Amino acid sequence: MAENCIVIKFGGTSVGDAKAIERVAAIVRGRLPQRPVVVVSAMARVTDQLLQMARAAGNGDRKTALTLARELRERHYNTAGELLGTALFTQFHSDLGTEFEELEELLRGISAVGELTPRTTDHVASFGEVLSSKLVAAAFSAHAIESTLVDSRDCIVTDDTFTRAAPLYDETNSKLREQVQPLIAQGRVPVMGGFIGATRTGITTTIGRGGSDFSAAIVGAGLGAERIEIWTDVDGMMTTDPNLCPDARRIKVISFDEAAELAYFGAKVLHPATVLPAIQKNIPVYILNSRNPSCEGTRIAARAPHCKNFFKAIAAKRRITIIDIAAPRMLLAHGFLKAIFDAFDRHRIAIDVVSTSEVSVSLTVDSNESIPALAADLSRLADVKYEGRKAIVCLVGENLREVPGIAAHVFGQLTDVKIRMISQGASEINLTFVVDEEQVPGIVQRLHKTFFADPDPEIFA
Ligand code: ADP
Ligand code: ASP
Ligand code: MG
Repeated sequence: MAENCIVIKFGGTSVGDAKAIERVAAIVRGRLPQRPVVVVSAMARVTDQLLQMARAAGNGDRKTALTLARELRERHYNTAGELLGTALFTQFHSDLGTEFEELEELLRGISAVGELTPRTTDHVASFGEVLSSKLVAAAFSAHAIESTLVDSRDCIVTDDTFTRAAPLYDETNSKLREQVQPLIAQGRVPVMGGFIGATRTGITTTIGRGGSDFSAAIVGAGLGAERIEIWTDVDGMMTTDPNLCPDARRIKVISFDEAAELAYFGAKVLHPATVLPAIQKNIPVYILNSRNPSCEGTRIAARAPHCKNFFKAIAAKRRITIIDIAAPRMLLAHGFLKAIFDAFDRHRIAIDVVSTSEVSVSLTVDSNESIPALAADLSRLADVKYEGRKAIVCLVGENLREVPGIAAHVFGQLTDVKIRMISQGASEINLTFVVDEEQVPGIVQRLHKTFFADPDPEIFA
């Protein structure tokens, strides 16, 4: 019978500097009786910086790439210097030195070729979590927590869809049981980097931006953990992004479905895929604040209790492009929608919101996708126009289909706003619309004021 354990994941800001890592050590120490497995993100902003150096190298700008790499080296050494005693630091210095030489070697190689592939992008990006996991494991030793570094590339087996690889669960689960389970049984704390994995043949991959939450869920599901804790820099899942709306309230408990919907539509506090492996195993997920560890955070559970308010939360996803496809002659003939969706499939571009009329289809996609190539492909079928700088606003709540007049309630607040698309009913729990990006703060603040003026004390803190 496997040992019980919990998985605790710390995001970038929670391991952003020496003070933050000390807080992490204190949180882990307090949970030793529950046998924690620790998953860490790269230090705050590091993944962005690594991708920036990869791009510089890809453009042949070796100097910029190496300068950025040196800054990264300094930051990690300085943090380690603050955290570790002399003996540990000397050992760690040479260990980290090897990683940085490999990174610099890789950047030189990329700039010599002047070409950056998704595969090398992942190799560069992986250093963030490789370095942070080493740093955190060393800091635990310095704080007398018996821990063992586990290289996630030895456990998380993925396909070769570089930059957003999908985990291969059977292989991953058996590796986790082989490599991580025995450490738990010995009373040691395994420390793993999130976000990264490797193919069956050992080539480094990443599982998508923000993917350390997903890693935590993969590990938690694979080990049959009792709970998964996602430690971040806010008190939990809030009624809206606290950066947009300072009076956002903490949601005490929310269902898996609602959390997934919110995460998908922009509440970046949680990676959308996170909830999946956890739902399947019915493992509760908590979102907690590493700067305020005594706060109860948000519990994500299979079912949420009834809420007196219409909505649980409002999310916004910016950097959206609307694609309008008009086919006047075809009148959306049989097979036309299929041809359109096939084109999206060929370009591996996900669609968020769809709306159709007799002669046209509008869809939204993430602006980061390579839209010109898709548009060229689609223009063989119909007239295609696309427009960026849009945003999706999504209101999430239970049983919205059952509530009369809900749309009037929402749009009654927005009579002066140009709404580009509306969607409701695909799931019972969301009402979604598309607007110009710059209108997001005003709209969210207005809706928040209306729908959270009198928050249900059972659900909101
Ligand atoms: P981490 O580095 O810990 O993974 P992220 O930056 O990915 O943290 O996610 C936390 C951030 O998510 C918060 O600082 C907050 O700005 C943002 N956020 C967006 N929507 C929400 C929401 N509804 N509730 C809480 N945080 C949100
Ligand atoms: N470091 C990765 C990123 O910034 C993964 C994560 O933080 O979840 O995307
Ligand atoms: Mg995150």
